[in-house]
Amino acid sequence: NTRVGVLALQGDVREHAALLASLGADVVLVRRPAELSSVDGLVIPGGESSVIDKLSRTFGMQAPIRAAIAAGLPVYGTCAGLILLADTVLDGIDGQESFGGMDIDVRRNAFGRQTESFETQLDVPVLGEQPVRATFIRAPIVERVGAQVEVLAALPDGTVVAVQQGGLLGTSFHPEVDAETRFHARFLGLVETFARTHESTHA
Ligand code: GLN
Repeated sequence: NTRVGVLALQGDVREHAALLASLGADVVLVRRPAELSSVDGLVIPGGESSVIDKLSRTFGMQAPIRAAIAAGLPVYGTCAGLILLADTVLDGIDGQESFGGMDIDVRRNAFGRQTESFETQLDVPVLGEQPVRATFIRAPIVERVGAQVEVLAALPDGTVVAVQQGGLLGTSFHPEVDAETRFHARFLGLVETFARTHESTHA
């Protein structure tokens, strides 16, 4: 089975763990470097990116996660998790840092007060014809994408809300709260590919 970690410092860890388990993955809650090195993929949940950032430094996880990303570990970030994958965070608070890895600029809390939270049907062509029900909660947006970044979905006004760069996947919204399995299934595909090419590391 595929061993996938969920970074369990803060945020909606359980929802991701349950969804990944329902897709047949072995889920590991990751809080320490040893747990990180036991997985072939990592999900960074939604929550509060500045808190996850701070805790990751307190727990000595920032450097290992950065190293894992640099080594090609597939990572899927939702909302706060997407912020943590961005090379550049706009409107960060308190000297907020990210793990980085995706050549994108992300703006935190990018929707105004009236629309802090909303749901919409989103076309995501790589996931098929059936639109995705997308829940946005104090969500970030992707303001710039680098040349290596594939835009998977945008709002009708062109605002980018789902991106992929190699093994890194990010969404502004939370499929894990809508029982929308297709992003996680796509991610598990990336994880399986990575695991096959790195079999020796766990042998
Ligand atoms: N606003 C949060 C942040 O900046 C993200 C919200 C979420 O993950 N639902 O981290």
